[in-house]
Amino acid sequence: MLALSSMAVNAVPSWQTRPPPVRRSPPPRSRSASPKPEAAPSPAPVQELKQVTVTVSGELSIQTFHTPTDPNADPYQLPPPVDNSYRLVDKSEDGSKFDTAMELEDRSGLITGDKLTTGLTLELPKSIADVVNSELGGSSGNGTRRRLSEQEHSLRRMVREYHNTERSLKEFVELQNLIRDVHETHAEQERRRLQVNLKDLIGAVGAAGGTQSFVNLTPKAKKTTRTGAGGAKDLMIIGGKPLNITSVTFVFTSSCLKPAQYINTAWVNNNWDNAKAAAPTTPTLQRYYDVCSYNKLRFESPINKVYGPIDFPCQGSWPTKGKYDITKSCSDPELYGAWDAAKDYLKKNDPATFSILEGIRRKIFILPFRPVCTFGGRANVGCPGGGDCLTWMTYAAENRFIDMSTIFHELAHNIGLSHSARNVCDGKGTCEVQDYGDKTCFMGSGYPTDPTKQILCATAPQGYKAGWVGPMADPFNGADGAPATGEFKYSDVPVGQNLPVLLPAMGMTDKNFLRVIVDQKGLAPVNGRKRERAFFISYRSILPSTHPNFQYDSGLSSDFNRRVFVHEFNETADNNPTDDSNPPLIRNVLDAIPAATGKPNSIGDGWGALPSKWEYSGADGRLVLRVLSKGQTNATITLCLAKVTKEDGDSCYDTLDNDCDGLADEDDPDCTGVEKPADVNAKPPPPSPIFKARSPPPSPSPPSPLPPKAGKPTKGRRQA
Ligand SMILES: [Zn+2]
Repeated sequence: MLALSSMAVNAVPSWQTRPPPVRRSPPPRSRSASPKPEAAPSPAPVQELKQVTVTVSGELSIQTFHTPTDPNADPYQLPPPVDNSYRLVDKSEDGSKFDTAMELEDRSGLITGDKLTTGLTLELPKSIADVVNSELGGSSGNGTRRRLSEQEHSLRRMVREYHNTERSLKEFVELQNLIRDVHETHAEQERRRLQVNLKDLIGAVGAAGGTQSFVNLTPKAKKTTRTGAGGAKDLMIIGGKPLNITSVTFVFTSSCLKPAQYINTAWVNNNWDNAKAAAPTTPTLQRYYDVCSYNKLRFESPINKVYGPIDFPCQGSWPTKGKYDITKSCSDPELYGAWDAAKDYLKKNDPATFSILEGIRRKIFILPFRPVCTFGGRANVGCPGGGDCLTWMTYAAENRFIDMSTIFHELAHNIGLSHSARNVCDGKGTCEVQDYGDKTCFMGSGYPTDPTKQILCATAPQGYKAGWVGPMADPFNGADGAPATGEFKYSDVPVGQNLPVLLPAMGMTDKNFLRVIVDQKGLAPVNGRKRERAFFISYRSILPSTHPNFQYDSGLSSDFNRRVFVHEFNETADNNPTDDSNPPLIRNVLDAIPAATGKPNSIGDGWGALPSKWEYSGADGRLVLRVLSKGQTNATITLCLAKVTKEDGDSCYDTLDNDCDGLADEDDPDCTGVEKPADVNAKPPPPSPIFKARSPPPSPSPPSPLPPKAGKPTKGRRQA
C-alpha cells in the first residue's frame, strides 16, 4: 500500500497535463498496419489497442451473495448456489477509498485482506476503441477520422499512457470512470441521433443496438501475486473477551415501488433493538447476538443506529459508479449508488455521525428492490482493512417480514465466517460441496422453524471460529490417561476403553464441543495460515422452556433436534477470515438407537437412518464414537481408540475392548475359544506391546465415573 501510494502522488492526474510518455519498452508490433507517424504527438510507434492492461496493487475484498430460501418454503429444497464478487480495494493517503470488481483467476486460498498485485485487463467497447485508435485511421474500425472531444482526447492519452504500466488503484478507477463517462456520452449522442432520425429508423431496428448504454467495467485479473497478509482482523472473539459491533443501517424506499413498501425505518428499529421489540423474547438482531455468541459479541443500540427512509429514485447517477437504473439492474452502480446516497443522507441529517463514519465498521443497506435484486443478502466475507465493510439486504416491497437469521448470516460473513457446507455424494463416488448444505446452522440453509419466535444458532466449528463457544473443559471427567480438555488428538484417546463423555447441548454452556485433531497428511499451510484437520463433535437440542438460555437453538428443526453432529473443519480460531474454498462441512448426523424399537431413527434430506456409531481411521488407529443415550440437555457418548480390528491372544484377557466393537474379552465373539495364556495370572496385566497405548493399563479400581457395568469398569457396551 505504501509503495502504491508513492506511485500516486501527483495531485493532478498526469494524463491531463502531460503528453504520452515514451514507452519503457514498446511491445513488439503484432499487426502489419503501421502507424501514421505524422499524426502522432509521441515519437513512439502507436499500436492498435482493443484492451488496456494495467498492473495494480491493493487489498482483496470478497463479497458473497446470499440467496436464501423462503423461510416458508420446503426446507429440503436444494440450497442455492453461492456467488462471490472479488474486489480490489485501496485507501489513498487522504482517506479516499477506491474499489473495483474483478474477474479473479486463481483465487483459491485467498481471503479478504490479502495484499495482491495483479494485471487488470479491461476490454474496450468498440466506441471507446475507436477513440483510442483514432490516430490509426483505417485500422481502427470504421476508418473515418473525426474530431475528438476534450474528454475523448483525455481518454485516448490515458489509455495509451497507462497500458502495460504499473498504476495505483486510484488511477485505474479514474480510467474506468473516464471510459464509463465517454461511453455514456456516446450512448447519449446515439439516443439523440436516433430520436432525430426516428422516422428513418422504422424498418431499421437493428441500428438501435449500435451503442449500448451498458459498459462492462469489470477487468479480468491475471497473473495475480499475493504479496502479504492484510488487515482484515475483525470482531472474532479471542479468549472470550467481549467485543462491540458498530454499524449504521440505512433503510431505503423508492417511488419505483408498486405497491408501497411495508417494512420501514420503524420496523427495522423494532427488529434490531431488544428494547423496542414486540416481546421480551422476540428474536431481534440484538438478541441473536446475545444468545448465539453467549453475550460475547454485543450489538448495543446507541452504537448501531438506524437511518431512513432514504429515497432512491428509479434512475439516477452517483459519483462512485455512475448511472444506475434500479428497475433493470442491481449491480455495482445500484449497490454503490445506495452507499453514496446513504452518505449524502447522513451528511445532511446527522453530520456528527457522518464525521465519524470511517470508524463505524459495518454499513447495512435495507433495499426493497427484489426481484430486480435477485439475492437476498450480499456481504463482505471479512472486512478489508483499507475498504468498507458493506452488507446489502434486499426484499420485495410487499414483504412484511425480514428473517433476522438472514441478516445475522450476512453480518457473520462480515466477521469472516464462510458458509456452513455439506459434501454430498451421489453414491457413485461423485461428491460435490454444497455451499449452504448444512441445515443446522444460520450460516448454511438452516432457518428457525418459526422465525418470528425462535432462534437457530451456529454449528460447533462456526462458533469456534467466531470465538463464541469453546471446547469442553474436562470431557472425560479426569479419567486416567484421558485428555484433560475437549481439544485433543484422536490418538490421545485411551486404547480399548469406551470412555463416556457427557456432551452438553450447545445451549447449556459455552464450553460445548469436542475438537478432535486427526492426521494432517496432505494438509499444508495456505498463504502462511496454519491449517489443522479436525472433527468437531457436538450435541444440539431444543432446551426446556424453563431453561434460562432456552432461546438458543429453539428453532432447530425436528430432524436435527437431539442429534449428535460430526463436522470437519480444517481452519483454526486464528482471527482470520475463513477461506471459503475450505468451509466447515457437516459430515455425520448421529443418534442413539431407541431402546423401544432397537431400530435407528430416520430423517430426510439424504441422511436416512441415523447411525449411533462413527469411526475415524488414521495412522495411529481407529477412533470409535458411540452415542449411548440422549436427553433434553445432554447426550452420553463414548470414545474408544482401537489399534487392532480383532481381539486375539493376550488381548482377550486384558479387560480392554481392544477392537472397540463394544465388547471386551470373553464378551467379544472374537475371543471364543482363545486360550488363556499360561502366565497371565503370574503378574499384573502388562501393557500389550502391540497397542503402544500412551495411557497406563487400566487400574483394577474403576477409573470411570460412569461405569456401564460393575466389575468391568473400563468397558463400554452398546446399550441398545
Ligand atoms: Zn452467505
